[in-house]
Amino acid sequence: MVEVQLKEAIKTLKQTGVRITPQRHAILEYLIRYMSHPTADEIYKALEEKFPNMSVATVYNNLRVFRDVGLVKELTYGDSSSRFDFVTSDHYHAICEDCGRIVDFHYPGLDEVEHLASHVTGFKVSHHRMEIYGKCPECKQKQEKSK
Ligand SMILES: [Zn+2]
Ligand SMILES: [Zn+2]
Repeated sequence: MVEVQLKEAIKTLKQTGVRITPQRHAILEYLIRYMSHPTADEIYKALEEKFPNMSVATVYNNLRVFRDVGLVKELTYGDSSSRFDFVTSDHYHAICEDCGRIVDFHYPGLDEVEHLASHVTGFKVSHHRMEIYGKCPECKQKQEKSK
């Protein structure tokens, strides 16, 4: 699964004329393998050993290249650092308020909301964002134990 997605992603990069460097390859692979919505810093830490000359800024710049060709989505939450999501299909996020973990889930049919919003406000709707907040299973368990 990872290999197929990685191949597809590299094909997309080639088509858009983006050069595939070993670093870019490694960053992409990390995004696809872990699907954990990492920050640039987390990716940097994971790849630091393999690429000692790479800086967080390099990782961030590469992520922006991927974002610009539509391979990843940049998720921004207030002033905390951006998280990056490899784009597979449209999905929503459940976000843990304690540890910040983001979990994907699929839910069909919010197109209706866009239609209604467009109708009511006269906006040409480009997209919407829905997030579910709460405690992830691990944090929930921790809390129950400490009671
Ligand atoms: Zn949590
Ligand atoms: Zn996601």
